[in-house]
Amino acid sequence: KLSQRLKVVADFVPQNSRVADIGSDHAYLPVYLMKQKQIEFGIASEVAKGPLDNAIQEIKAEGLSDRIDTRLADGLLSVQPQDKIDCVTIAGMGGTLIKNILENGKSHLSGDELLILQPNVGEDRLRTWLMNNQYEISDETILREDGHTYEIIVAKKTDEPVNYTEQEIKFGPFLLKQHSDVFVEKWENEIERIEMVIDQMNLAKHDKPVDKINSMKKEIEEIK
Ligand code: SAM
Repeated sequence: KLSQRLKVVADFVPQNSRVADIGSDHAYLPVYLMKQKQIEFGIASEVAKGPLDNAIQEIKAEGLSDRIDTRLADGLLSVQPQDKIDCVTIAGMGGTLIKNILENGKSHLSGDELLILQPNVGEDRLRTWLMNNQYEISDETILREDGHTYEIIVAKKTDEPVNYTEQEIKFGPFLLKQHSDVFVEKWENEIERIEMVIDQMNLAKHDKPVDKINSMKKEIEEIK
């Protein structure tokens, strides 16, 4: 049942951790982790009743109701100090939503948690939030599944100021270094997409958006 995407998220979860999976839907991730004996305790947290019911069903079917809690709450508000959570996973949402969940739930984080984040889009906005909140990216990976490209960002709070260049924010500090085939393909596709938009804009007979076209050409150069 576990997608390759969630399997790769799971691979980043340290052995014997206590995990809160925010936006868990079917709770596939905490269930898998518990069956693997990789975690000691799990919370499958959901803001919506339907997905929470999916989680409850799945956890019950796997006989794990005593070791994975289900909670209905907005984001990190489900996490309490007595849960002793040391790993937070947030997967399968936009980067802006993940960023908002972290921002709104700051007071529920001790700062010792490992964050494992899988934004579907808007990775740059999420990296900017991490930097501005003194989270250091400790690892990243990128994968392709069913025609989609997914980035996974692992981060931990630090006492030191965190600084990333614009390039690192956009492309990912580790992904830049790894320079994997999937990474190259993602950005080649992005160039193609922007070129198509430029071609469309160039078709305009009147009021051609010259500034917009130029900024898009600049973006292509940057990606190259
Ligand atoms: N994490 C699973 C995965 O990666 O396959 C499910 C992803 S699903 C597309 C996104 C889930 O996040 C939905 O079930 C939605 O209800 C939940 N969600 C959205 N905003 C949330 C919030 N603020 N707090 C908790 N869950 C949220």
